[in-house]
Amino acid sequence: LVELTHVEKHFGDLHVLKDINLKVARGEVLVVVGPSGSGKSTMCRTINRLETIDSGDIRIDGKPLPQEGKELARLRAEVGMVFQSFNLFANKTILENVALAPIRVRHMAKKEAEDQAMELLARVGVDSQASKMPAQLSGGQQQRVAIARALAMHPKVMLFDEPTSALDPEMVNEVLDVMIELAHEGMTMICVTHEMGFARRAADRIVFMADGQILEEASPDEFFDHPKSERAKDFLSKIL
Ligand code: ATP
Ligand code: MG
Repeated sequence: LVELTHVEKHFGDLHVLKDINLKVARGEVLVVVGPSGSGKSTMCRTINRLETIDSGDIRIDGKPLPQEGKELARLRAEVGMVFQSFNLFANKTILENVALAPIRVRHMAKKEAEDQAMELLARVGVDSQASKMPAQLSGGQQQRVAIARALAMHPKVMLFDEPTSALDPEMVNEVLDVMIELAHEGMTMICVTHEMGFARRAADRIVFMADGQILEEASPDEFFDHPKSERAKDFLSKIL
């Protein structure tokens, strides 16, 4: 479903993505781990073209990423993204946050979009908060709304970039539980996370990045129990 081939990216003199080759199948849950600065976020952001690439090829469903305009808006809808910070629209209610894009981008009728939004909010367990403003919700609740908002566009793939790392510890699991449920429902997911318990439980495959390269690709058991590279062993010894 998602395919990166020989992807290269520089920020000035900094070579942040080095010959990245990656395939994610439909329904697969890929977890990306690696030390800070290894290029995990940059790689994620290239997939919905929040970052351009210098060379190589990225395809979704066999189609190259669109360059601009309407097509790009459609790509952003097909590729849901949830970031570390809860980037909800602060001046809109929770319900409006989830209903807005389907109305504007998909031209869904308001009532239909709101019904769908309520369903999605119920699914992530925050439907009772629908009429509140984002600032009135906890971080964990806001992050679940962000997931509902992405799902409202019926994405083909969901990208998660450390969605729990800004949360208080007691809220981490409520977000991970929603992600695990999504995984079980067959959503194609690419998750950058430091939550190794989640990685072991939910991942079909782990990708370990360091210095802009993919150094290892393995099943969770293989990766956690028998990491091959020194970099991965070192990384795991520091976080486990
Ligand atoms: P972390 O675990 O800290 O989130 P990461 O693996 O997500 O790290 P990236 O954010 O992808 O790493 O960054 C990779 C490298 O690119 C880092 O050295 C970072 O400083 C640099 N970088 C990221 N974004 C930019 C930018 N917009 N301009 C210049 N350099 C950047
Ligand atoms: Mg990052």
